[in-house]
Amino acid sequence: MAKLTNLLPERVFHYFEEICSIPHGSGDTAKISDYCVEFAKSRGLEFIKEDIGNVIIKKPASLGKENCEPIVLQGHLDMVCEKAEGVEFDFTKDSLKVDCEGDYVFAHGTTLGGDDGIAVAMCMALLEDDSIAHPPIEVLFTVDEETGMYGAQALVGDDIKGRRLINIDSEEEGVFTVSCAGGVRAELSISLNTEINNLPCYNVTLDGLIGGHSGVEIHKGRLNSNKAMAAFLSTLNDCRLISINGGMKDNAIPVLTRAVVATNEDISRKAADFVKHNATDSDPDLNITVLKAEKCEVCFTKKDSERAVDFLCGLPNGIIKWSDNIDNLVETSLNLGVLLTENNKISASFALRSSVNEDKLKLLDDLKEYVAKFDGKMLSEGHYPAWEYRKESPLRDIMCKVYEQQYGALPQVVAIHAGLECGLLSEKLNGLDAVSMGPNMYDIHTCRERLSISSVEKLYSYICKLLECL
Ligand SMILES: [Zn+2]
Repeated sequence: MAKLTNLLPERVFHYFEEICSIPHGSGDTAKISDYCVEFAKSRGLEFIKEDIGNVIIKKPASLGKENCEPIVLQGHLDMVCEKAEGVEFDFTKDSLKVDCEGDYVFAHGTTLGGDDGIAVAMCMALLEDDSIAHPPIEVLFTVDEETGMYGAQALVGDDIKGRRLINIDSEEEGVFTVSCAGGVRAELSISLNTEINNLPCYNVTLDGLIGGHSGVEIHKGRLNSNKAMAAFLSTLNDCRLISINGGMKDNAIPVLTRAVVATNEDISRKAADFVKHNATDSDPDLNITVLKAEKCEVCFTKKDSERAVDFLCGLPNGIIKWSDNIDNLVETSLNLGVLLTENNKISASFALRSSVNEDKLKLLDDLKEYVAKFDGKMLSEGHYPAWEYRKESPLRDIMCKVYEQQYGALPQVVAIHAGLECGLLSEKLNGLDAVSMGPNMYDIHTCRERLSISSVEKLYSYICKLLECL
């Protein structure tokens, strides 16, 4: 049964709820692409579906605005799939269990995908509404933003005529983003030798952390479960590592890491000690559970277990540099998002970000040098460029003006430490003038994700007003 029927703007939430019923995790966007194509077809709108799955839908200008420059409205089709521990949910099949309470829409037990389903829903509501005055509209839906902006990277875009673009992939109403960090993913791996194990084995689970978005929340001092587990293992004097696995996405601060170790030490006492000394104000619920496990026949050698822990403990993580130019802006950072033990190898996957392209490459070089010390290897992929600040931006000017007219106060104009597709899109669409905005969303990329209903309404009515003025 529809849960969002009574919310306003009605058509926006209607489409949002439909989107939530269609699986659309990153890498699994075929169904949602098809849904967008069907939407365009059934309304007689021109559309282009690119091979990678990006969908472009066009709507001619309303009467009298035919000579205006087109406006591109853009969002991404994919969502981050995270679920709460113990929740049974198949992101490839199940509909999200959307619900609302007070001012918030959320999904029971999983991410909501308000990031960025609400953009898709708003665009659909705008496209179907013939009562709004607007210039030619070109809606661009990209795929696989969350895992490396692959849709924007592969965008052909020849069909896009507009050179002013509103990206609806930000999370704070009243804030216009005009510049962002570039990024890249890096995976560092080291090989380890094994031996026969004679020691008792334990399953160690470290959890209870807050986590969050590895870009916009990297400065909040939250613990990273992968780093915390490495730090805990380094407190054990005599221990063989069997495996360590944690995190699900390189762009989410990991909240749960599991290790299997073999040791004669009183590991439960050490765990209690560690928790006592390492729980922080931002992560007061840090928890380590130690359970006796069945005996594993093989473990990493003592030397290589130590080498692995040294490797993990020495990995850089978090903020590397604050911006000298913009107050409170993290310029360069990285997040150790995923640890995986497989085939006698431990691999560590990072999301790196910087608003200075050179600094991103330097950090990548540093990681490469670091892993070489452990005879390991680094792979990197999914480079995306920083979106640089434009001194002259007619779009930003008019957007600020309309916002002030409508709400009596200027919006905040900011640069952020997160990736937005605007950097790549600026490379593809020559001379692009872009601004990013969005409704209030909280704890995105986590199963506590919430979307503010009132801010969706406010933003939507702003966009309607803006289109009239463009
Ligand atoms: Zn997003």
